[in-house]
Amino acid sequence: MSGIDAALSNLVGQEVVPTTWAQDPVNTPMIRHWVEAMADENPIYLDDDAARSAGHDGAIAPPTMVQAWTMRGYAATAAGSTGSEVAVELFGVLADAGFTSVVATDSEQEYFTELRPGDLINVTEVIESISPEKKTGLGTGHFVTTLKTYRNAEGDVVATQKWRTLRFRPEEKPAPRALRPRPALNQDNAFWFAAAKEHRLVIQRCTACGTLRHPTGPMCGHCRSLDWDTVDASGKGFVYSFVVNHHPKIDAFDYPLIVAVIELEEGTRLIANMVGIEPDQVKVDMPVVLDWIDADPDLTLPAFRPAAPEEN
Ligand SMILES: [Zn+2]
Repeated sequence: MSGIDAALSNLVGQEVVPTTWAQDPVNTPMIRHWVEAMADENPIYLDDDAARSAGHDGAIAPPTMVQAWTMRGYAATAAGSTGSEVAVELFGVLADAGFTSVVATDSEQEYFTELRPGDLINVTEVIESISPEKKTGLGTGHFVTTLKTYRNAEGDVVATQKWRTLRFRPEEKPAPRALRPRPALNQDNAFWFAAAKEHRLVIQRCTACGTLRHPTGPMCGHCRSLDWDTVDASGKGFVYSFVVNHHPKIDAFDYPLIVAVIELEEGTRLIANMVGIEPDQVKVDMPVVLDWIDADPDLTLPAFRPAAPEEN
């Protein structure tokens, strides 16, 4: 048995909350608030006659309310009550092993004695079991089950409650990678990015004079025509210029990042990343061919890699 398992198994059976009396006896105002909050319209909780005709001695507290009688308010907890020595030891052993997160998993109540206004009850909480280390969707941890026993002033068991929590080590999930910056799409460039998503590198062409242009735009710089269509680029070109970007590092990119001005064999130039080559191997005028970066489901961009000899 490992150190932590031994330390935990020593705690099983111990009182994690010693007998604690409710601050107030069972009372009608709290019952009224409870049934209103729960929208529970059963009359036996507030109406003595209805309760008597159902076989009780008078109005009874909702059994599920048992936990409420002995709970302390948030302020009392926040004021620094760290719990019993057993609780401190239990949570310390778990925290030292990295099980610092907690989630309640289930609660199982059983009722034995009816509670009526005026009854005063107490609760004792014992560690019933601590599971071996388990792997869960939230992370690896131990299920800690405690048994709360509620008793009235006569010592009769009113109810029991099994209370199970998972103390776990949060799984370290790598943060999802930032997406590449989105292009600012508009009516003059959306077609180009839409074609890229289909792995087509298109070049805008003036239908009046045939001049190709890039970046895309509404008007021909040569003849001022607003009419245009596109042609598919062959994908061949050469490095007109380039930079190797080291800083600032943006999470969406791998560095060093080659940013090149590529001149296509059709004559237009575009800016693109280069792939399949080390930054110190890039040369101006080197022949390149088209490749694609499918950055994410919404963004595909052309990239260029060195042309193999047969691709020149
Ligand atoms: Zn033109």
